[in-house]
Amino acid sequence: MSTSASILSATITGAHVEPVASRDAFPLLAADPALHYLDSAATAQKPRVVLDALRDYYETANANPHRGAYRLSVAATEAYHAARARVARFVGLADADCLLFVRGTTEAMNLVTGSWGRANVGAGDEVVVTAMDHHATFVAWQQLARAQGATFRIAELTPDGRVDLEHLASLVNARTKVVAFPHVSNALGTVNPVREIVALVRERSNAVLVCDGAQGVPHLPVDFDRLGVDFYAFSGHKVGGPMGIGALLGRRALLEAMPPWQYGGDMIAVVGDQETTWNALPHKFEAGTPNVGDAVGLAAACDFLAGLGMDAVIAHERALVRLAMARLAEIEGLTVHGPAADQRSGVVSFSMADVHPHDLATILDERGVCIRAGHHCAQPLMRRLGVPATARASFWVYSDAGDVDALVDGLQAARRLFG
Ligand code: PLP
Repeated sequence: MSTSASILSATITGAHVEPVASRDAFPLLAADPALHYLDSAATAQKPRVVLDALRDYYETANANPHRGAYRLSVAATEAYHAARARVARFVGLADADCLLFVRGTTEAMNLVTGSWGRANVGAGDEVVVTAMDHHATFVAWQQLARAQGATFRIAELTPDGRVDLEHLASLVNARTKVVAFPHVSNALGTVNPVREIVALVRERSNAVLVCDGAQGVPHLPVDFDRLGVDFYAFSGHKVGGPMGIGALLGRRALLEAMPPWQYGGDMIAVVGDQETTWNALPHKFEAGTPNVGDAVGLAAACDFLAGLGMDAVIAHERALVRLAMARLAEIEGLTVHGPAADQRSGVVSFSMADVHPHDLATILDERGVCIRAGHHCAQPLMRRLGVPATARASFWVYSDAGDVDALVDGLQAARRLFG
């Protein structure tokens, strides 16, 4: 089935929420109609167009780019640079050379702390993160602050799991060098008001703003050039692309002033016996043979999502979240964590009294329902919720009301089992 033919409209009729994209467009889901994959916040299933793009690249254009004068190498080089331009367009970055391909959000954050952070944060400076940050952001900045002798501050949350903007404002001052925060919480689904946070920080400091977009790009329209942050990171595998590819977007002036963070081929201009000069952006930050195939796959995923329309994607996820929250409220002893449905992406994190989340996940798995149980790489958040772990169901473009039914039926069975 062609992509366009497989794309359905997002409609809600009573409790009937249609997917934005047919399961037929996703070979793994098409192969198992009984599977209810509710772990898309961890990683998304791959559309056929992405798998086709990977195969096509390796079958027709595979060579080491940048280095060869022969036609195949030129084809690989062109595929790589076209992929960068397509991904940049999808996330609203006009200056595509300011999009650096990395392995994912984790590597992007380590690039920013390792390069910009080491060069710019020192003793007496302050670094601010939020209590809902993923460990990829939280720990990277915590350790950078420790290494540089800076003060590490944590913006607390409101009782319904949003960043407490008043508290954040109280932490930001002339000593604040960086404010890092997630676009969307992976554990709660909370969508943060990025522009409001940017305005609040800019009014009080010259801090650099770093946004973890791992849960933003898969679920919301992202327009980097208008967002106001200085760095924005995301992972390809969460947008339907391959694992092992992601991107860091940054402002040109910052990227040009930053030292390289890895050394090797491609990132150099002239290597002298004692001194070396660096290549232009983006190459300065892409040492070694690049991951061309996965960049091509990521670009195909971005094109696929652009075809669906990100406004339709978030509207669909919210419809499912509304449905799921209404149905889960009927289950005795079940608490849903986080804000109202209209302030979330497609994530519902919950606890059931007297039942460990891992037991819930096991019972659901027996029914073909895949959810995540654990701390979701957000231990500081779990401490504030007062739980060691939660169960998390997460929706994406292929999820539908049948997935919610299967989740609710499984949880009711667990409730009966545990009394
Ligand atoms: N940040 C957030 C909000 C995430 O959800 C994740 C992944 O779960 C990451 C960072 C880390 O992404 P990756 O493991 O792809 O580097």
